[in-house]
Amino acid sequence: MTTPFGKFFLPGPTEVLPEVAKAQEQPMIGHRGAKTEALLARLDEPLKAAFRTKQPVYIAATSATGLMEAAIRNGVRKKVLCLVNGSFSERFAKIAAACGKEVVKAEIPLGQAFEADQVRGLLETSGADAVTLAHSETSTGVLNPIADIAKVVLAKPDVMYLVDAVTSLGGSPVETDAWGLDFVLTGSQKAFALPPGLAFGVASPRMLERAKALPDRGIYLDLIAYDTAIRKRQTPYTPALSLMYALETQLCRIGDAGGIERRWERHNAMRERVERWVAKEAGARLGLSYLPREGRRSWTVSCLKLPEGGKALGGAVAKAMDAKFGYTIGAGYGNLKDATIRIGHMGDHTVAELEALLGALEEVIKSA
Ligand SMILES: *Cc1c(COP(=O)(O)O)cnc(C)c1O
Repeated sequence: MTTPFGKFFLPGPTEVLPEVAKAQEQPMIGHRGAKTEALLARLDEPLKAAFRTKQPVYIAATSATGLMEAAIRNGVRKKVLCLVNGSFSERFAKIAAACGKEVVKAEIPLGQAFEADQVRGLLETSGADAVTLAHSETSTGVLNPIADIAKVVLAKPDVMYLVDAVTSLGGSPVETDAWGLDFVLTGSQKAFALPPGLAFGVASPRMLERAKALPDRGIYLDLIAYDTAIRKRQTPYTPALSLMYALETQLCRIGDAGGIERRWERHNAMRERVERWVAKEAGARLGLSYLPREGRRSWTVSCLKLPEGGKALGGAVAKAMDAKFGYTIGAGYGNLKDATIRIGHMGDHTVAELEALLGALEEVIKSA
């Protein structure tokens, strides 16, 4: 590997610092022994701090989608309201249908966020016993106001609130306990900036009650098994030890850098940097604009619309960024491939690195 850090801005997987990757080289330990228990004990407090919860944080050897399926299997009794405004929130609906649940899909145009009042109405008419959504919809760069929506969902006594926080948690505020999230999940390769392969999740006490009453939770994604194990500082199945070594190193780094709030602030500064570039600087001169409106933009991924009818197309811009400057960014997702580009400024990136990327982006779009 010769590429220096600070060139890889895909909206996941995120660039991994060499020292974090290196931590994986530690030797294997017995996964049922005292050493693994000690490792899980060391991970406990920093993970809870990142999730802002008093509940244990489950660590699963799966990508984030595994815990999305766990959310459905353990949280939906019969009927689920899926709030869909992009590919990842859509995935929740697909999983629910594949798991035999009745799905009420509420779809809004790409680039828009769901608002609490809208969800109140949808909940009334749907009769659902659970709601799914993606906090930061990575395909469009939209940040849904999940704290406001939580108030509406929790006003209903028996509706579980299931949140994909894959590109928000670790990069922007997610208050698991204070907001009353029933299940919240993320993956290792997004704002935590670890290699892919781990997913983390937290269940509320009422989510665990719901899960216990559901007979078809399956085996690998049974949250009761994860909950029982972690309370004994174990995992139900062989943990991905090497990734957990990297996790420990990363959580120490986050603590040493001042904690999760400092990490949020750095991500917010990166979001603001792109906003200023698009509103007042080269981005404005080149005719770029945001897909999501102000106030509903993810702190970890900026989805920018290229000038309509212009020569710069998302796929080509992403390719040229690599070919000319060695930067990896995301083209638009799905139908938005050529209409937009996505800059994943999450994990351990800094405003200074982003600054250099924006300079390269200006050159690429100018010469398209
Ligand atoms: C990346 C992503 C996922 C899926 O994660 P995998 O780890 O690939 O399973 C789910 N939701 C969102 C919002 C994502 O960005």
